[in-house]
This record gives sequence, structure tokens and C-alpha cells, in this order.
Amino acid sequence: MDNFAYAGERFADIQILRYQIRDFDTLSLRQKCYVYCLSKATLYGRDITFDQFGKHNLRIRRLLEAVYVNFKDRVHSDEFDALEVYLKRVWFSSGIHHHYGCEKFLPSFSETFLRGLIYETDVNVLPLHDGESVEDMIDELFPVIFNPEIFPKRVNKNNGDDLVLTSSCNYYEGVTQQEVEEFYAAKRTDDKRQPSWGLNSTLVKDEGGLKELVWKREGRYGRAIEQIVYWLKRAEEYVENDSQRKVISLLVDYYESGSLDIFDRYSVEWVKLHEGQIDFINGFIEVYGDPLGIKASWEGIVEIKDLVATKRTAIISDNAQWFEDHSPVDSRFRKKVVKGVTANVVQAAMLGGDEYPSTAIGINLPNADWIRADYGSKSVTISNLTEAYDLAAKGNGFREEFVIDNYTKELIDRWGHLCDDLHTDLHECLGHGSGQLLDGVSPDALQAYGSTIEEARADLYGLYYIADPKLLELGLLTSPEAYKANYYTYLMNGLMTQLVRIQPGHQIEEAHMRNRAMIAHWILEHYGQAVELIRQDGKTFARINDYEQLRMGFAELLAEVQRIKSEGDLSAARQIVERYAVAVDENLHEEVLTRYSKLKIAPYKGFLNPRMLLVKDDSGNVVDVKLDYTESYTEQMLRYSHEYAAL
Ligand code: ZN
Repeated sequence: MDNFAYAGERFADIQILRYQIRDFDTLSLRQKCYVYCLSKATLYGRDITFDQFGKHNLRIRRLLEAVYVNFKDRVHSDEFDALEVYLKRVWFSSGIHHHYGCEKFLPSFSETFLRGLIYETDVNVLPLHDGESVEDMIDELFPVIFNPEIFPKRVNKNNGDDLVLTSSCNYYEGVTQQEVEEFYAAKRTDDKRQPSWGLNSTLVKDEGGLKELVWKREGRYGRAIEQIVYWLKRAEEYVENDSQRKVISLLVDYYESGSLDIFDRYSVEWVKLHEGQIDFINGFIEVYGDPLGIKASWEGIVEIKDLVATKRTAIISDNAQWFEDHSPVDSRFRKKVVKGVTANVVQAAMLGGDEYPSTAIGINLPNADWIRADYGSKSVTISNLTEAYDLAAKGNGFREEFVIDNYTKELIDRWGHLCDDLHTDLHECLGHGSGQLLDGVSPDALQAYGSTIEEARADLYGLYYIADPKLLELGLLTSPEAYKANYYTYLMNGLMTQLVRIQPGHQIEEAHMRNRAMIAHWILEHYGQAVELIRQDGKTFARINDYEQLRMGFAELLAEVQRIKSEGDLSAARQIVERYAVAVDENLHEEVLTRYSKLKIAPYKGFLNPRMLLVKDDSGNVVDVKLDYTESYTEQMLRYSHEYAAL
């Protein structure tokens, strides 16, 4: 394969990528079996997510799959291609609404076309209810698929609407927003440790009034949950330690009982669990899919600790005091005793439910506020997904368009990803924890400017140290030139390319984006000999003339930003943010947007999972687990629909 990350699938606004589980072959057989069983538990939740995202989604998927499989080798037409794209989108979104924007996407084939194919398909493979005719099914599903007025939004958060009635997510049946709010208000008490009421149930109304259909083994979604429980129990046989056993057994108890108190006990044990190399998330977790933020969508992920990255973050963390003592800030603002944190870096081994194919690259859980307050949270970044994004970026034309010359582009291709990771590590493990406030300064002194200043402080710490010879000495980098890749992309992004995420006519709002703009524009103004924006062939480029001087610039700005923070100097914070971080140069913005749109880069990406295959000896004993990366998007989706059809 030319570029591993490319899975060769591009449709609508989506690019499908592959990730690689680098550390898989270093695992013991027992660990591999643990991952295998947890992965099965991850994949069996898929149908739950489809159903949660809309009550007709599963039937629509099955109908389209039946027709697609029946005709894919026989029919070749634009309309059939359109049907294929639509089905791919349904797979990607776990339903008929856009996975990100939540609006319904419409097919570009006709009702007549689909109807014709359905009537030529064997009724036995169509998803008919008992006694239902094909025409009845069509009457029920076609308006849902084709009529833009019906179920226009999965999650409607438009102020003033009845959010429950106008959202087509499948968490409520026959109830209004007010009824839902009253129902849950009545449950809440003053107890800080009360459970997340309503998290794992559908709220319905019948003759007896409102009631919850709880998602548990003998309740709603029971058949899928039964499979999940089965594979969790199988996984229990291969745990790496007793803490994992305890976590799994609490999760099984929760799935069996539906008790939210047990879910909280499980979450507490899960957040405390740090031993072992393998971890997972499996359950009803995030509430973004419910306009009221009560009901959780099902998701699953299996993680393997990234040993190389963890070694890197441990080295950084072990040397935290050295970094603090040598930082270019006034010694009054340095911490006398500093403790680094080791970032948790993992590799994804399986993605499922609401995390598949579109997924987060960093996760911080649990969500319950009281557990976070009492026990903290566990946060991970997923290195093999960021690596796949980086690989994909190498082939999409972005660097060719925006990086000034081949020398710089090669530098970035070679060192960009490693340096980005290192910069993130320095930012997270040291930057945020560095420095101290002077006595009497409130942590909130910088008010609305606080988060931009704080992010800038951590970023500058990373920028200053990524060019330090200490990193070579510690073995974290092998080339004294590598940091230049990071300097170039950082400034290019802050000065120009991050503007692709801003609508024309808008200013920069988000704290991380403001911080990058602030650093880049401050440097441009104060170190104009070291970096400049130039015009070449009618286009604007960032040009770096002197990398060493740039580092001095970052040091100077770090000292000033730390002073602002340590002294709580609100007026200086306001001044520097308002001056450098907010405004957008309209002409440059338009130019960047135009150049970017020509690249036709898919704005959304998702991932295929590897396929895990058991290798058995002649007596049927499992002797290995092999990974296969050759499956296509369509093959994987059809296989999942078949193998993990639980509902
Ligand atoms: Zn940060």
C-alpha cells in the first residue's frame, strides 16, 4: 500500500482512513485474547447506536443493504451509484442524519428507482415486520428517507422549539420537552453524589403515564446487551490484573441490572485503574445526541497503551524540574518544586458505536461531575489516529499548496508528526503545570482572557523547549533540525491556515485558535527579520529566515505571558489578546479559503477497524490473533451488519 492511512474511500464530504495498531504484535497471547474479546464487546453495540439515532435507522439500513447486495454486480447507473453513496453515508452516520451537523441528508436517486429495485428483491431478505406487506414498509420508510420535512434534524437545539418533539433521536416516545424536564426534575435531589438520572433509558408515555424503558440485559436493547455481556465475561478470563477484573464485573452488573448507582461505582473503579497495558470504554457515555443532554449514546473503544509515546512522556515528566529551572521566565515566576504529569497515550485497537467510524482523538472521562471532583478523570490521546491523520495530510495537497518550498515541506514530512506529538507532550506534561502565581493573585484574575493566555503559556513552553539541545541529549529527538518543522507549521497555521476554520466575515473566538494567532502575530511584529509573510506567484506564504532568532522570540514572549499570568495583569492580557489574537485580515482570509477549497479536502474523516482473526492449532486451541487490514469500507460495513446484527 502506498499510503497506509488511505483506505481508498472518498464520498460526499467524507474521507475514510485506516489506523494501524503498531504495538499489537508486542502483546502476549493472553493480552491479545483480552483485546479480541473486548473488541467483540465493542462491535456488538453498533445496532444500539443506529437505533438511538433514529427509530427507522436500522430498517432503512437493512433495506438499503438488501437492495445493494442484490444488485451491486448487475446494475450500473448514476442512480445506483447515488444509492451506494447514500448507503455509505447511512453507515458512516449510524443513520440518516449527518454525523456532525445532525441535519438529514437526502438521496440523489428517485423514489421510483428504489421502489423498482425493492420489488425485484426477494421478500425474504427485506426487513419486513411480521405480516407486513412490501407496500406497507415502503409507505412507512420512504417519507423518512425522501421527504425533507420529516425528521429534518437528529438533534435540534433551536431555542424556543420543543426540543424533544423536533429532534428525531430515538430517546423519547410520545412526550414533550416539558414532560421530560418535569419527570427528571422530580428525581433530582440535593445529594451531590446522585446518579445521572435518565442516562440509560428511553422515556415513553402510555396509559399509566410516563415510564422509563431501561437499557439492560432484560430490557430495551437486551439482545445486543446480552452479546456485549457475553464478550465482557469472556474478556474477564484474560485480564491483566485484578483491578481490570473488578471493573469488568461491575460493568457486567450494570448491564444486567441497569442500575445507575452501579454505573457510578463502575466509573469510579475505571478512573482509578491505571495498571496494565489495555483499557477500554464500553457503554452509554456521551449525551450530545440528546438535545436535553440526559440520554447517552452507546460507544465503545479498546485501547492499548502506546509504549513508545509513554516512554517519551515519562522522560519529559522525569526531567520536569530541569525544564522549570532553565525556563526563560523571571525566577520569581518559576515553581521551586515542579511535578510533571505523564500523559496517557494509547493506540486504538477497536472503535464502535458512536466512536465509529468518526471518532475523537482525545478522550477525557467519566462525565459525572462528582466523580471528577472526588476521583479525578482519566484522559488519553490516541496516537495511531493522529498518525493516520498525519499520513493522510501528506497526500492531500495541503502542504504543497501552503508550505513555501520543497526544503521546508520535506522537513515537515520527515519530522512534522513527531514534533507535533512532542510539542503536545511538552504542552500537556510541563507547560500547563509550570510557573506560579505571585502571592495574592487570583487564578481568575485574567477573566475572559485567562484561557487564551493559559494556552499560549503552554504552547510557548513547548515551542521554546522543542528547540532545546536537551531534547537531543534525552534522546527525544535525533536531529538538531527537527524542531524547524514544528516552528514552520506553527507559524503558518497561526498566521494563515487556521483561518480555513473561520467563516468569512467572522473573527477568531476559540481560545486555542486565539492563542495560536496571538503568538504568530506577536512574533511577526517583533521578529520581522526572522519570519515574514511574502507574496510569491500571486500567493501568500510564511517565510522563516532565522530559526534561532525565532526561538529567542518565543522565549521573550513566554517570559511576558508568564509575567501576565503570575501578576494577574488583566489590562496587559486584554491588550495582547485584543491586538494579536482576534482580528482576521479579510483579504488574506479570502485567499486562504479559496486556495483551500480548490484542494477539495474532505472536511470529515472516519476510520476502518482492522479485522482480528484467531489463529488455531490442529486441536482448536487459539495460538495467536492476527490483524488484517485489507478489508474495504463496504466489506467491513456489510460484515458488521451481518455478524453483529443484534437487534
Ligand atoms: Zn492546553
